[in-house]
Amino acid sequence: MTATVVGNYRVTGADTESDIHHIVLDFGELPFPVLEGQSIGILPPGVDAQGRPHHARQYSLASPRDGERAGYNNLSLTVKRVTEDHGGAAAHGVCSNYLCDLAKNDTVQVIGPFGHTFLMPNHPRANLIMICTGTGSAPMRAMTERYRRRIDTGENGRLMLFFGARTERELPYFGPLMKLPRDFIDINLALSREPGQPKRYVQDLIRERGPQVRDLLSDRNTCIYVCGLKGMEVGVLDALRDVTVQSGQDWSILHDVLRREGRLHFETY
Ligand code: FAD
Repeated sequence: MTATVVGNYRVTGADTESDIHHIVLDFGELPFPVLEGQSIGILPPGVDAQGRPHHARQYSLASPRDGERAGYNNLSLTVKRVTEDHGGAAAHGVCSNYLCDLAKNDTVQVIGPFGHTFLMPNHPRANLIMICTGTGSAPMRAMTERYRRRIDTGENGRLMLFFGARTERELPYFGPLMKLPRDFIDINLALSREPGQPKRYVQDLIRERGPQVRDLLSDRNTCIYVCGLKGMEVGVLDALRDVTVQSGQDWSILHDVLRREGRLHFETY
């Protein structure tokens, strides 16, 4: 599909190393149905060092199913500009730089959508524990927005977010996130390099909020979503085990139940 760029702006502090963009793509008259938790593939133009067309890269949707703007045929992405060279590769950051540099009205080749393992429950009363770092916040934004748009139904479950970044200014969507009402979403920010503050990672905050996490875990309507860098899975599982064990429960049984009932979801890259 060809989509048109209708917005592209930075969502991290201009003075930080972390250049993360919110990019809105419009599909015009063409239907492109998506669900929160899915990703799309972007085909960067041009060829690689061997003269072959570039491979598609995947990006999670940051907007809910009914559009970045409700009722519009558009969607949004949260893209981090990759600048580090991963050891001798001829090109690096091909697609993320292409996306972050797009201007309004540029067109983009899109494939997908992909993914059926990170979808949110259809049941409106489901509680969501969302654990993420960096651009792993994209699917959490999509799910949160889906809940926000049905606030008036009075049928929403509880939302608990654990969001990790180095500093507040490197945390994408910091401003809009902090404006969300606290009785709508329980926000826990883990900052690992905020000057003058102790280093905290998402797993530290999960332990600190142990009683509330346990309370949610004891409800069979609770689903857990983890998205971000690959390395975070182990730390998060250890923290969930610790809070469970503290209440005298057997984590291996609960872990098994969560997996079997499709209530524990990971998307790391
Ligand atoms: P490059 O260094 O050019 O490429 C990075 C990666 O692309 C490589 O490590 C490799 O895995 C793959 N690749 C490159 N060339 C080849 C090749 N010839 N053959 C096979 N593979 C190749 N990033 C975000 O910023 N935001 C998101 O929301 C997001 N969601 C993602 C969701 C999923 C499910 C996955 C798998 C990844 C997601 N990513 C996301 C990461 C994203 O897909 C890219 O890896 C990232 O943007 C870097 O791509 P690049 O082209 O800029 O960097």
